[in-house]
Amino acid sequence: MSSHWIRDEKRAAVILRGHCACVYCGEYLPKGLGIDHVVPREHGGSNHESNLVVCCNRCNRLKGTKRMVVFVREITAGDKDLEMYILREIKNQRRRKLNKVGAIFALLLLKADHYLKAA
Ligand SMILES: [Zn+2]
Repeated sequence: MSSHWIRDEKRAAVILRGHCACVYCGEYLPKGLGIDHVVPREHGGSNHESNLVVCCNRCNRLKGTKRMVVFVREITAGDKDLEMYILREIKNQRRRKLNKVGAIFALLLLKADHYLKAA
């Protein structure tokens, strides 16, 4: 198992902390949300909760190994208010503790939903 591996509960907790919306473009579930390493692993970023935010697959792909500030500047295209808003939101999310109990509950609901659909 890779040291970069993030447990399902932690992933779910990060998504819940970010109100289930991509921190960069605001896209909501269920259109493929994942986790972004604010400081990319390639630049020494860790799997610590303070380095993780919610990110849609599209933004994750676009961001790649770019530094977060560079990527935010790129997607806001000169809109300074939007840039400040996104940077503040990222800062707030990184500071908040993860609600692990809530995340485990959310995972159970997702599993139940999966089994209901399969039935
Ligand atoms: Zn996005």
